[in-house]
Amino acid sequence: LSAEAQDVIDEIDEKGVEFLRLQFTDILGTVKNVAVPATQAEKAFTDGIYFDGSSIEGFVRIQESDMRLKPDPETFAVLPWRDGTSARLICDVINTSTGEPFEGDPRRVLKNVLDRAEEMGYEVNVAPEPEFFLFEEDEEGRATTKTSDAGGYFDLAPKDLASDVRRDIIYGLEDMGFEIEASHHEVAQGQHEINFEYDDALTTADNVATFRTVVRAIAAQHDLHATFMPKPIPRINGSGMHTHISLFEGGENAFHDESDQFDLSDTAHSFLAGILDHAPAITAVTDPTVNSYKRLVPGYEAPVYVAWSDRNRSALIRKPAARVPAASRIEARFPDPSCNPYLAFAALISAGLDGIERDLDAPDPIRENIYEFDEQKRQEYGIDTLPANLGEAVDALEDNEVIADALGDHVYDKFVEAKSQEYDEFRVDVSQWELDRYLETY
Ligand code: GLU
Ligand code: MG
Ligand code: MG
Repeated sequence: LSAEAQDVIDEIDEKGVEFLRLQFTDILGTVKNVAVPATQAEKAFTDGIYFDGSSIEGFVRIQESDMRLKPDPETFAVLPWRDGTSARLICDVINTSTGEPFEGDPRRVLKNVLDRAEEMGYEVNVAPEPEFFLFEEDEEGRATTKTSDAGGYFDLAPKDLASDVRRDIIYGLEDMGFEIEASHHEVAQGQHEINFEYDDALTTADNVATFRTVVRAIAAQHDLHATFMPKPIPRINGSGMHTHISLFEGGENAFHDESDQFDLSDTAHSFLAGILDHAPAITAVTDPTVNSYKRLVPGYEAPVYVAWSDRNRSALIRKPAARVPAASRIEARFPDPSCNPYLAFAALISAGLDGIERDLDAPDPIRENIYEFDEQKRQEYGIDTLPANLGEAVDALEDNEVIADALGDHVYDKFVEAKSQEYDEFRVDVSQWELDRYLETY
């Protein structure tokens, strides 16, 4: 037993933890748990816990369904509900027939990309800004789209009635070891944002997966439904998950260069050029639902055009002002919180690394409001448009070897299959909008 694993077992005893939730995510980003009594902890660390992978979305074919969960002792955290009797451990998935890490495990996909970064000399730091809505439940406990408050951006009590819930969510997250940087009411009614401190990309992806579970569970205790659906209400702001990224090299921020007018190094310029270059394919992964594309429309602080800016919020990538050199970073504004964080970070980072490898130059930043550009002006500036829907995004992914390689064959195949099917289902459906518009007119 490793020293870290022994520490976890001691902590389980000390805190009287009774159940362990062994956590991992499927390809679509849904958190899965296998619950075992805490008495199994030692066995979990030494042998792993077997489970049937055939029931997990996109994992394996039925005939080769035995998987093993190998808990990562560094991810031990007591869950802030059920009176502290349950704890979670995030797991790597092992293929029992080969004894190797399972290639369909999204956590493995991100680790592979981070290994590549490491070979190039980089550590990758990521900080997300997930937004979400809190909605009331109806009498049967089902989610509605009715908001429980009348607050606006940065509005505080007494109008922001949901601030109690948000406070509980933050306490819960802090109990689990999250460092919360800021939280505020967002632009839309019922919309919230909680930002957490940057960490290495893998820890941050683990944190996002946990975050969504914790937020939903604590909201439910207040009879509210928390949703990470990107655009639950038409014609008001949707929910994004802005993703701040920086590379460190030998303990120094490799994105910082004072001599540059934007304080960004050549490395940072190439990294962001790589993301711009691969943006349409990345979008399939960072904005992976039909509904994601209802958010990526002009006018609601979400990006639509492939450009970067050191100022405005209509761009795909923004360079936020950094207080200290170590904080130099870029902010990808297109991801939304319905993504699988492991795959989304893997796609963004591999695109950026490809930009570095190809020594790409970033175009000039756009300082005007791109929403107001007409087609001709966009052409003049050479600004492309993001995919208009999930179908176009999947097409772009199918044409992009760099992002496909980052996902690996298994995840790529299952992802494209699932998302093509999802888009086809949407395409043949007839929406309420169509009925309202056409039923009586024709
Ligand atoms: N809600 C906006 C989005 O969809 C972002 C607002 C902000 O700048 O925080 O991306
Ligand atoms: Mg925000
Ligand atoms: Mg932001």
